[in-house]
Amino acid sequence: MLEIKNLDVHFGVIHALKDISLTVEQGEIVTLIGANGAGKTTALRTISGLKKPTRGSIIFEGRDITSISPQDRVKMGICQVPEGRRVFSTMTVLENLELGAYLRKDKAQINKDLNMIYERFPILEKRKKQAAGTLSGGEQQMLAMGRALMSSPRMLFLDEPSMGLAPLFVKEIFDIIKSINQTGTTILLVEQNASMALQIANRAYVMETGSIVLTGTGNELMQSDEIRKAYLGG
Ligand code: ATP
Repeated sequence: MLEIKNLDVHFGVIHALKDISLTVEQGEIVTLIGANGAGKTTALRTISGLKKPTRGSIIFEGRDITSISPQDRVKMGICQVPEGRRVFSTMTVLENLELGAYLRKDKAQINKDLNMIYERFPILEKRKKQAAGTLSGGEQQMLAMGRALMSSPRMLFLDEPSMGLAPLFVKEIFDIIKSINQTGTTILLVEQNASMALQIANRAYVMETGSIVLTGTGNELMQSDEIRKAYLGG
């Protein structure tokens, strides 16, 4: 479904991504793990079109999307939930959700999707008239995910969805990610919580200082001594 080939990204003299290649098949959850600064966020931002690569190509469903705008990528069914949630804090929960659908024209289906999101995240329906900035961190993460789902994505990028959340919420967010995947959305997940990410991922890529250094199934990497020492606390 998604194929990244030999991607290089620079910020001035900083070589942030070095010859990155990866694939995501339809229906998979693929995770990118790695320490702070390894280049995970840059990889997602480049695939969603927010940062231009200096070399390489991005193929989505057989089409080269390396040079098309982020908006056109959203129209094709790619959507990113950015790190730190970034909900519009003075707007209501409902307004945030409606914004997620602003490129869509299929009104009837939009309403159905809104109801589906309220079923998945009942708290968002309860709080629909409340300013988004007044939600807890976990609720804001749910809102950011709900807003992304309102664009009806076929592929969802999640950047550190568990960041800053209490353990109980972390478990809930990962359960939700699994259920979103089970209803047909392919997922590319960036996480520092390698243990949780590897548990739900079909496959994973490990990044270090801008390069992919290891890849395998979630299970394989969880068993790997190297990964256990470096990312799973021994
Ligand atoms: P984190 O989990 O901390 O977000 P990460 O793995 O997502 O880490 P990136 O944020 O992608 O890492 O950063 C990769 C490298 O690119 C780092 O060296 C970082 O300092 C650099 N970098 C990222 N964004 C910029 C920017 N806007 N300008 C300059 N350098 C940047």
